[in-house]
Amino acid sequence: MSFSYINRENTLQAITSESFDLLVIGGGITGVGIALDAASRGLRTVLLEKNDFAYGTSSRSTKLIHGGLRYLKQFEFALVKEVGSERAIVHRLAPHLVVPEKMLLPLREGRGFGSLLTSFGLWLYDWLAGVKPADQRRMLTRKQTLRREPLMSREGVKGGGLYAEYRTDDARLTIEIAKTAVAHGAHLLNYARVEKFIYEGSDVTGVEGRDTLTSAVFKVRATCVVNACGPWVDELRTADKSKSGKSLHLTKGVHIVVPYERFPVQQSIYFDVADGRMIFAIPRGRCTYIGTTDTDYTNDCDSVNVSRVDVNYLLAAVNETFPTVQLVVADVESSWAGLRPLIHEDGKSASELSRKDEIFESPSGLLSIAGGKLTGYRKMAERVVNLVIKKYFSERSLKKCYTHKIKLCDGGLINLRAVKEHRRLMRKNLAALRVDEQVSNNLVHLYGRRSEEVYAALRKYLLEGIEPELALVRAELEYCVANECVLTATDFFIRRSGMLFFDIARLRNTRDFVLGQLQSTLHWSDERRKQEAMALDDAVERATQFQ
Ligand code: FAD
Repeated sequence: MSFSYINRENTLQAITSESFDLLVIGGGITGVGIALDAASRGLRTVLLEKNDFAYGTSSRSTKLIHGGLRYLKQFEFALVKEVGSERAIVHRLAPHLVVPEKMLLPLREGRGFGSLLTSFGLWLYDWLAGVKPADQRRMLTRKQTLRREPLMSREGVKGGGLYAEYRTDDARLTIEIAKTAVAHGAHLLNYARVEKFIYEGSDVTGVEGRDTLTSAVFKVRATCVVNACGPWVDELRTADKSKSGKSLHLTKGVHIVVPYERFPVQQSIYFDVADGRMIFAIPRGRCTYIGTTDTDYTNDCDSVNVSRVDVNYLLAAVNETFPTVQLVVADVESSWAGLRPLIHEDGKSASELSRKDEIFESPSGLLSIAGGKLTGYRKMAERVVNLVIKKYFSERSLKKCYTHKIKLCDGGLINLRAVKEHRRLMRKNLAALRVDEQVSNNLVHLYGRRSEEVYAALRKYLLEGIEPELALVRAELEYCVANECVLTATDFFIRRSGMLFFDIARLRNTRDFVLGQLQSTLHWSDERRKQEAMALDDAVERATQFQ
């Protein structure tokens, strides 16, 4: 069944006319991970997401599949071991989307740890995660470090470490897991907000939801309900009257994006700043992005803004470590702000809070999962589904978790070699259409083998005489609408193509064309098109204007 608007009515029909084993609330990486795990083990599964898949934190992270080097400082060995080991697995499952990336960790006088301790820390990091010998950390001399990153201030540099991580696109990873869950029989619906729980006696047995596109109200029944709402977890626990004991502690993290030529780092770098925190600078295509901040957050989870203070903090961090760069606010092309749904611990500051996940069981039977990392989604899902099975379905013969073997991305590329070969082929094909290498590589990163479909459509539109930029965006849009449940303009520009963050000029150039295409494909009224344009412009303003 295709994962597109065409099936929305059928999905709504299906989810309201039968009772399910498991209902998952929240379509971030945690929720879709649970849906895939549960469906693949044989549970009849439904997932409701109030906005778009990955609308919350799962499109606003640092976009790394990483072990969390800094958690070693907090002696979180079990967490580092688990998420560190997951990196290679998630890479194997989606090799075009989770790509190896060497990270440079410079050592500076008076900052971070000394060279011996860092060398030991990086060794421990590799050892805990079982990193292959060829990929293990390498310590660098001062000269080697400065050669690797000539932009860095020479002052106080003592050397550096080079270690293995993976780079991804968080929203696309979420979408690929969602698609795979659907392929395994789960029903997933975006723009479907859960508004109320339904109880039989004191047990939760379903929810009342609202289709936020039509305002229609519907009911879904299930034996077990899981709340995977990230920063909104406590909102749902409150609705269930079970918010007692531990609660969430939200912290805000901001990233800014500048043109690559304004901050041309040679590779990803993780550097210490004066206040003792650490910041990433990560090159991605035509941009470099920088993050993150970590500050307590108590306002509305649906309108998290990047402030002038956040931007200045990140610019100052870069300008102090890379003094020839001297970035200014006008260099910032785009930005995003996300909320970490952490678990509160008395007396701990934002940066000190554990990133561990935890499951809360309410007297009504509602299970809520909070905390955790993008990287650890698979293990979190396994724990939740194990608990669901133990509580409700222990008499059934269900499969054990095998998501480590379920490739994401249908017909996907099997390993990094296949990705490189496909990239080479696409570069050749697209060069013939005068599409540059960066665009071609990006298409493979976003759509994997399915970039062939984008290429075929692009070729057709170019032959029809459509202007190249519009032909390309039309080809991408059609693929995403037909296969990835795009229902709004922001779905496409933010969470499928990543254009709002990484190619905002292209978004501006193609805005009207895309709105027109969506209007005719999705049969929007003029009023709806106006609302979509406003929502898109609002997203652009939030990403580019800082108060
Ligand atoms: P979310 O992605 O927020 O999903 C929750 C979903 O629930 C939302 O889509 C929301 O719309 C939906 N929802 C809420 N209420 C309702 C309702 N009533 N009905 C239906 N749906 C509802 N981790 C890493 O591994 N690597 C990183 O590089 C990394 N960097 C990070 C950087 C920052 C700045 C932040 C904030 C986090 C970072 N993380 C990283 C952590 C990681 O991003 C999060 O742990 C993860 O994305 C949380 O996913 P989630 O599904 O739990 O929450």
